[in-house]
Amino acid sequence: MDGVLNEHTKTIHKHRGEHVDQSDVQTICGATAHVTHGRLQLVSIDRTTDDRSITRCGRCFSDADSGGY
Ligand SMILES: [Zn+2]
Repeated sequence: MDGVLNEHTKTIHKHRGEHVDQSDVQTICGATAHVTHGRLQLVSIDRTTDDRSITRCGRCFSDADSGGY
C-alpha cells in the first residue's frame, strides 16, 4: 500500500490514491495539502513500519486502531 511520507515531520500518511501523479500528492486526512511537495515522498507503508523515527498519522491510521468505520 502506498503512503505519503512528510520528510519534514517524519510522519507517514495514507495516500488517497485518486491521483497517482506525484505532482499532486494527496493524503486521506488532507494535512499535507499545504506542504511543499518537495518534502513529500510516496513510499510503501510497509517499508516505514521498521523505522521507529517515523510516526503514523493518527487521522489516516485511526481506522486500523479503532476497528470502526
Ligand atoms: Zn494523515
